[in-house]
Amino acid sequence: MRVLVVEDEKKLGSFLRNGLAQENLVVDLVHDGSAALAQILTQAYDAVVLDIMLPGRDGLSVLREMRRQRVNTPVLLLSARGNVNERIEGLNLGADDYLPKPFSIDEVIARVRALVRRASGEHTTIMQVADLSLNVVNREAMRGAAKIELTNREFALLEYLMAHAGRVITKTALCEHVWEHHFDTGTNVVEVCIQRLRRKIDDGRSPKLLHTIRGAGYVMREDQ
Ligand code: CA
Repeated sequence: MRVLVVEDEKKLGSFLRNGLAQENLVVDLVHDGSAALAQILTQAYDAVVLDIMLPGRDGLSVLREMRRQRVNTPVLLLSARGNVNERIEGLNLGADDYLPKPFSIDEVIARVRALVRRASGEHTTIMQVADLSLNVVNREAMRGAAKIELTNREFALLEYLMAHAGRVITKTALCEHVWEHHFDTGTNVVEVCIQRLRRKIDDGRSPKLLHTIRGAGYVMREDQ
């Protein structure tokens, strides 16, 4: 996978390049919009990480021009936090995703991978952790040979946890991604749903797969 990073802040650019390179991506880094456009029009990239505020030609102009020239490479835009108009304009121009600064390198890597997956049409239909499998097409969950009946919410929760297996997921992230909104942190709706899900997938079975990490969140994994 070859990725172009366009970022004029040298330090941030190197940080992005090194972070993505560690994930075995081939990374080219350029610091201005004109150089970016020249690269995009001559090289085949799997994804472009494109800052908006750039010298020469800004990121939105690069995006507009590449789409005009029918280059459909997925684009992840980077921009200053809170600039909603910029974000809307970017998405209208054909950006595939948007990340406000400051961001974590893990977030950039996850988004770039998701973009490439989507673009290549390789959708994962079955996710697997130990003997637990989740078929996201026919929406079937199995633990070993046993079928597990899930509500829509439990399915969405399990899908999110399995897609991030091995990583600790905070309650806040679950609220945002599974419930798609923020609510009062006093609520225990996440805990309740986790408990129900755990009963269905782990009760009477070994190894346990859904773990609570006290004070941090939840993780799907085989060990511990
Ligand atoms: Ca910039």
